[in-house]
Amino acid sequence: MSESRFEPVISAEACKGCLICVNVCGKKGGGVLEESDERTPMGGVLPTVDGECIGCRWCERVCPDFAISIEEAEAC
Ligand code: SF4
Ligand code: SF4
Repeated sequence: MSESRFEPVISAEACKGCLICVNVCGKKGGGVLEESDERTPMGGVLPTVDGECIGCRWCERVCPDFAISIEEAEAC
C-alpha cells in the first residue's frame, strides 16, 4: 500500500518571518518547522523543515500571508 508524503513549501518572497507557523507546528503539528539562518526580504526569520511533515496543515491555516502550502505526493 502506498502512503502519502507531505512537503511544506515556503515562499521566501511572501513570508515575512513571523514564525507563527513554527509555533503552531510545534504545538499542534509534527514539530518539523524550525527557524533557519536565512532572513526574509522583510527582515524576519525564514522557517525551514526538519523532519517528516504529518500533513495536518495547521501551518497553512494560520499563515497570515498564505506563504506556506503543503504539497502531497504518493510515495512508492
Ligand atoms: S506564518 Fe507564514 S509569514 Fe509567518 S513565518 Fe510562517 S510562512 Fe512566514
Ligand atoms: S502540515 Fe502540520 S506537521 Fe506539516 S509543517 Fe504544517 S503544521 Fe507542521
